[in-house]
Amino acid sequence: MAPLKTLINGARGRMGQTLVACARENPALRVTAEVDVGDDLQTAVALCDAVVDFSHHSIVELVLARCVEHRKTLVIGTTGHTDLQMAAIRHAAQSIPIVCAPNFSVGVNTLFWLTRKAAEILGPSFDLEVVEMHHRLKKDSPSGTAKRLAEILAEARGWSYNDDTRHGRHGIVGERTNREIGVHAIRGGDVVGDHTVLFAANGERVELTHKASNRETFAQGALRAALWAHTQPAGLYDMQDVLGLR
Ligand code: NAD
Repeated sequence: MAPLKTLINGARGRMGQTLVACARENPALRVTAEVDVGDDLQTAVALCDAVVDFSHHSIVELVLARCVEHRKTLVIGTTGHTDLQMAAIRHAAQSIPIVCAPNFSVGVNTLFWLTRKAAEILGPSFDLEVVEMHHRLKKDSPSGTAKRLAEILAEARGWSYNDDTRHGRHGIVGERTNREIGVHAIRGGDVVGDHTVLFAANGERVELTHKASNRETFAQGALRAALWAHTQPAGLYDMQDVLGLR
């Protein structure tokens, strides 16, 4: 089979460069365009089979429009989307296959699965907190992965992410309520991405932790997602679908 003609958007960034390097080692793919600020996205999209976007969430509508116009497969790796941008992604997925995931690593997707299971097994007497740490240059907070972990906890409890999360604590905040998921973002150094989910009850505590030590794990997962999505009908998928964890 001919290699998948792949466009990397955000190609000069940390993830973009890792994606280009990983794709070079993978005979199933060929990078046909490395696009970044100022480059001609429109022409490059027309000439590829699939777009892998790790640029910035603020341009997701533009990337969606180009991919829908030319009927291309799209992998969205950016994080920090607004509710309106998420609605645009769902709408575009009616016409093209899209994989959108806050984290493409196999380990973190296992953590997602374990978090749901642990929340179900441990039940409502455990307090829920999510802690993440990333390098000092990360722009959005909390991380997309921490947000997804909190969403999974909220789903398991029948709560809502928007109403029942508490981002950091400062000052005389009063006692912790039973209905809250604490979310805490630490920034510093060159940390690629650490996430811990805490389940704390009287007398015992469970902690689930994932630590990424390089970006290759995300890049390999995103390329795998592009190859997988290109064989799928239009729809919105995430890494749980790609890995068959549903
Ligand atoms: P980065 O700042 O190093 O790279 C982003 C690149 O996008 C830069 O080269 C920038 O010039 C480019 N860019 C910005 N606006 C653009 C535009 N309009 N058109 C084309 N290119 C544009 O950031 P990064 O660390 O590589 O992360 C990029 C994104 O990927 C972030 O949203 C981050 O949260 C996300 N991320 C996701 C995963 C995952 O597994 N889903 C993993 C790591 C990072």
